[in-house]
Amino acid sequence: ATPTAIMVGTGLGAKRGVLFKNALALETSARIQAVVMDKTGTLTKGEPEVTDVIVDGVPEDELLRLVAAVERESEHPLAEAIVRHADPLGAPARAVKFENVPGHGAIAEVDGRRVAVGNRRLMEAEGIELGALAARREELAAGGRTAVIAAVDGRAAGLIGIADAPRETSAAAVQALHQAGIEVIMLTGDNEATARRIAERIGIDAVIADVLPGDKAAEIAQLQRGGRKVVMVGDGVNDAPALAQADLGIAIGAGTDVAIETADVVLMRSDPLDVPTALAIGRGTLRKMR
Ligand code: ADP
Ligand code: MG
Repeated sequence: ATPTAIMVGTGLGAKRGVLFKNALALETSARIQAVVMDKTGTLTKGEPEVTDVIVDGVPEDELLRLVAAVERESEHPLAEAIVRHADPLGAPARAVKFENVPGHGAIAEVDGRRVAVGNRRLMEAEGIELGALAARREELAAGGRTAVIAAVDGRAAGLIGIADAPRETSAAAVQALHQAGIEVIMLTGDNEATARRIAERIGIDAVIADVLPGDKAAEIAQLQRGGRKVVMVGDGVNDAPALAQADLGIAIGAGTDVAIETADVVLMRSDPLDVPTALAIGRGTLRKMR
């Protein structure tokens, strides 16, 4: 594109809080065929809240106390929601031997008991059967909730249902991208059933779920096969390698520093609708250079 077209495009973006870091980012925006969007914190508000506590053989307060003790040591957004929910219960228990298991959950010892908190994959790794809780977990997932499973001394003892509402403009953003002939794909570490329910609400039909933090970039590379130009939109530390792998990385302004530094474009308003806007500005810039 001509320097003038680049300047105009960059200026148009800046007015909407869409920061193109360089001319190449603007030019690539015009050639995009697929947009991959992270779920938590990108399509959703990233403000998870506990909605359900389901126990099996342990009093609810006790389960929450044990789980919160473990999650207090974790920096995961789900962990923060649980700690906040358990706050009214008073003095926290102390966790020792804390172990973070990326993409799975966390494990620690609380009051001499081994407490594992995380997803189904963590329970499988620990050899723990869900028993009576399996059906309840499916119910939570069908409602678009993330079910955090808690096990105490090798036995599944409870579920904590967590909801994270879609951002107000996520559905409109997906619609605008579809109208521009661009495919939209949700990419998440969360489980398939929960992710599908939320994707359905937003109008996304392609979902790649249960992706380990280290595998997001490989999923992008897969989508790029055959020379397809792919955007990744994300907010988390987890998303940085995928943002770098994509033809164009777009970071949510409210996201982590690593995501913002790695991306080619930053959406200062954290509004998903600015994704189609960014691509439209790119197309406009390219048209001017022809
Ligand atoms: P994402 O942020 O996309 O959900 P992560 O890789 O951070 O991806 O986590 C994947 C899944 O692992 C989460 O959806 C959750 O089920 C589980 N998980 C990870 N860390 C924790 C934790 N500290 N407490 C509970 N669950 C966790
Ligand atoms: Mg995220």
